[in-house]
Amino acid sequence: MKRYLLNIFTLVLLVLTPLLQAKSLPNIKILATGGTIAGAGNSPTDTNYTSGQIKPEQLTGQIYEIEDIANISAEQIAAIGSQNLNNTLLLQLAQRINTLLASEKVDGVVITHGTDTLEETAYFLKLTVKSNKPVVLTGAMRPATAISADGPLNLLNAIVVASAETSKNRGVLVAINGAVMDARDVTKMNTTNVQTFQSPNFGNLGFIPGWLSRALTG
Ligand code: ASP
Repeated sequence: MKRYLLNIFTLVLLVLTPLLQAKSLPNIKILATGGTIAGAGNSPTDTNYTSGQIKPEQLTGQIYEIEDIANISAEQIAAIGSQNLNNTLLLQLAQRINTLLASEKVDGVVITHGTDTLEETAYFLKLTVKSNKPVVLTGAMRPATAISADGPLNLLNAIVVASAETSKNRGVLVAINGAVMDARDVTKMNTTNVQTFQSPNFGNLGFIPGWLSRALTG
């Protein structure tokens, strides 16, 4: 009998341990809207590509050990180039974020977005999202199929920023190319360079040391 109980106990422990561990990580929701970060071309060097082709799960699937940083789930809100974003979609995005963040089950939101109007969306969300939880936008200058695509690292860093306690109460943030910027000041300065987003008036709020980001959260 004792042995039987011990086996049951071990079994329960084996089932519960991963569940309890999963619970201690922040729950981050990715809202995908399209853009170059989800763009696909015919080859790694093809400069022609179509925005919004790659699903968020495919992007997160490229990030090594992301499951140690946060519990990730994703929703595809749109699959467009951000030059085609309209007011209806912006309102839909803001409403969805407010609904998600009102839930105890969501600790932060990451939005993947085209870079052309990323700063406009960031500022709009800063004015319309009512939550102290982190909201972080990111994008990419190279499509997901390109050699040295910048999207996966940008997405990883955005997830790290959205998972951090210190990102609470800061309004909407942009995390891109290793920098964290305030939605109020961020602007795109260059049409091709990965170092395109800058905060000319107030400077960056912080930096993310790229591949070390996992160590920071670990
Ligand atoms: N035209 C693209 C967009 O804004 C550019 C990009 O994502 O970088 O969606």
